[in-house]
Amino acid sequence: MSRVTAVRGDITRQQVDAVVNAANRGMRGGGGVDGAIHRAGGPEVLADCIARFPHGLTTGDAGWTTAGDLPARWVIHVVGPNHAAGERDRALLISCYRRALDVADELGATTVAFPLISAGIYGWPLDDAVDAAVTTLAETPSSVTEARIVAFDEAMFTRVERRLAAS
Ligand code: ADP
Repeated sequence: MSRVTAVRGDITRQQVDAVVNAANRGMRGGGGVDGAIHRAGGPEVLADCIARFPHGLTTGDAGWTTAGDLPARWVIHVVGPNHAAGERDRALLISCYRRALDVADELGATTVAFPLISAGIYGWPLDDAVDAAVTTLAETPSSVTEARIVAFDEAMFTRVERRLAAS
């Protein structure tokens, strides 16, 4: 049985141990899912980002903070490659999912919600972004029992469902 599941919804509403944020290298908030997580989590999330990551994070890496007011306990921040700006190394996108699972294991988080990293403002081609998520979350050894891909809109949800059905 695969640990990978999919829902259509808002990642900030997920009842899981940890939610993954598609952050940027500066880690001081941004648009898209990053903005939604900071808004819903409240100022504690930003304060913890500043305290723990004074120099931000590098592309492909992950690190955790409190989740503030979110139902989850932790936010695992990852920095996806910015395809739109010319960062097109797929290994960096795969690394985001792998490193997020590593951090979940360090925390003891067994249920983790993921956005489609780099698939928004960063412009990664959508089917490949979905394939990288599903394949990496299914194949990476980890104690995570549910890796829930949260698709924000119906079209993305359909892509994820189709890819899961093919695996
Ligand atoms: P990136 O900069 O890594 O591309 P974005 O936040 O722009 O990150 O987009 C990543 C994905 O997250 C996109 O598919 C976008 O539609 C989706 N998204 C945006 N807001 C939310 C949210 N609240 N919950 C879940 N997914 C979201």
